[in-house]
Amino acid sequence: MLDKAHADDFRAHFVREPAALRHFPALVLNADYRPLSYYPLSLWPWQETIKAVFLDRVAVLAQYDEVVRSQRETIQIPSVVVLKDYVQPQKRVAFTRFNLFLRDEFCCQYCGSRGDLTFDHVLPRSRGGVTSWENVVAACSPCNLRKGNKLLRGSGLSLRRLPRRPSSEEMRNAGRRFPPNHLHESWLDFLYWDAELEP
Ligand SMILES: [Zn+2]
Repeated sequence: MLDKAHADDFRAHFVREPAALRHFPALVLNADYRPLSYYPLSLWPWQETIKAVFLDRVAVLAQYDEVVRSQRETIQIPSVVVLKDYVQPQKRVAFTRFNLFLRDEFCCQYCGSRGDLTFDHVLPRSRGGVTSWENVVAACSPCNLRKGNKLLRGSGLSLRRLPRRPSSEEMRNAGRRFPPNHLHESWLDFLYWDAELEP
């Protein structure tokens, strides 16, 4: 069992390590072995992960081949860790740019294209439209430009579906479909083993 001073010693030492080591994120699982969050995927920089290991807050399930060294020992960088105490998942989905794109599955809600996304106020702000789950959608630049300050009805555009606040379950499912570009092989089991089984 390592004390806090030892953990700090590790940490102080690690921040002086080569920049390459910044690129070893760990997938963080809740105590039930599901990712702590899918949106965005719960990842810690390796420095945070090592700190949590030494504070005894997580157990290591898988590791990178790479190691970091302190004056006293060598440790393999964790690639998957699980929290020792269960954290209650957030019920309410935060209204953020990322979450809004995720709700709309990263495609324009008018034409369905996936490139060059912006945000569009369905009822334009100039007409009193508010910035909310119910009034903001992902839109590509051409559609955004075409809609301008017009009402939906006069714009010639139509919404693929009515915007509303997503449930945490919906976001969880959407998050599964849009994992980050880089997936370490040791994460894959934990990311997909709670996905729906095909009937
Ligand atoms: Zn569009």
